[in-house]
Amino acid sequence: MYIKKQRLLTPGPTPLLPQAMHAMMGADIHHRTADFRKLYKQVLADLQFVMGTKNDVLVLVASGSGALEAAAANFLSPGDHVLICSAGKFGERFIEIAKAWGLKATVLTAEYGGAVAPEVVERALAEHPDLKAVMVQASETSTGSMHDIRRMGLAVKQTKALMIVDAITGLGTMPLEIDEWGLDVVAGGSQKAFMIPPGVAFLSISPKAWEAGRSAQLPRFYFDLRKELKNAVNGESAWTPSIAILLALAEALIYVKELGMDKLIANAEFLAQATRKAVTALGLELFSSSPGNSVTAIKAPPGMDSGVIVKEFRTRFGSIITNGQGSMQGQIFRIAHLGYFDISDCFMLIAQLELILAANGYPVQFGRGVAAAQEAYAAVAIAPGAVLV
Ligand SMILES: *Cc1c(COP(=O)(O)O)cnc(C)c1O
Repeated sequence: MYIKKQRLLTPGPTPLLPQAMHAMMGADIHHRTADFRKLYKQVLADLQFVMGTKNDVLVLVASGSGALEAAAANFLSPGDHVLICSAGKFGERFIEIAKAWGLKATVLTAEYGGAVAPEVVERALAEHPDLKAVMVQASETSTGSMHDIRRMGLAVKQTKALMIVDAITGLGTMPLEIDEWGLDVVAGGSQKAFMIPPGVAFLSISPKAWEAGRSAQLPRFYFDLRKELKNAVNGESAWTPSIAILLALAEALIYVKELGMDKLIANAEFLAQATRKAVTALGLELFSSSPGNSVTAIKAPPGMDSGVIVKEFRTRFGSIITNGQGSMQGQIFRIAHLGYFDISDCFMLIAQLELILAANGYPVQFGRGVAAAQEAYAAVAIAPGAVLV
């Protein structure tokens, strides 16, 4: 085919919301002006609203990992004992952060594709009363798994430890009752379900976390959240902010508020479900035994390198999807659902996948996966009493 539209369909960066993209062109404003203060106050209030929390929300100029680093540096002291749930590459990032900041980490590991069971966390909390924090991914993007944040949060809430959640792909893809479940620090990033380019990260911070931060001894400067809070109260950021990304975020938040965070979550949930049905109808296997809604990780058929599938998505169709990371590279490919994805993206990707599999010698009855996705759509949008249009 001669014309191919390149489409960014990865679990971060994700497809961009058009009105958010357009808003970025208004970035010629100064950050110590009333215009900026109005924008910043609005963004902070809307973030707090869509995250559904009364906790303070702060924005940092960083990719998501900056928020994870800030979460460690602001509320802990050297040698503090932390519990890390690790079920993939992002869990391993928490381990690296703990090492870099001189924390003593006890690690609960789930194999790739699995998830750490909440009972294991409950047991560890009982065994180690000295724990200062529990760190966990809501959604482990590298494997497509999710954790039971509700149960873990409620268990941590009863202790002195802080519940630090990497919700970078969890926000907007799964319910997270931040206040009720005792999620003390919740990190998010702009380039995931928020439909805008990378560039800002954000955190919600509970009173319990601020209290712990008061005596925390780790050094901090650029990511000093106390300094950010002091400025945020006046509608300003501590340092020069990422103005273009904030303009985009403001637009995206208007969109998400209008849609409703519950609908954004339901959208990802539905697309994940339809995708799972489609790929299993094609005889493929899911990689995760506890699949979440942000991304679906699929095993390449035996004898086929998933890198070939990912490459053919790009070369044949212009669709940018992702391979597995680390040792999962070559074994799995990942189809994302978070943020600005719709059912047509799902139909398209499954149709493309069928063709790619066929081109690589895997027996495919064309339309089988697409039909499963169509049936999933029809069940909720065409059937009598359908709720979704
Ligand atoms: C994307 C992502 C991050 C952050 O990665 P950055 O490259 O720093 O934005 C952290 N955790 C999870 C689960 C992610 O999906």
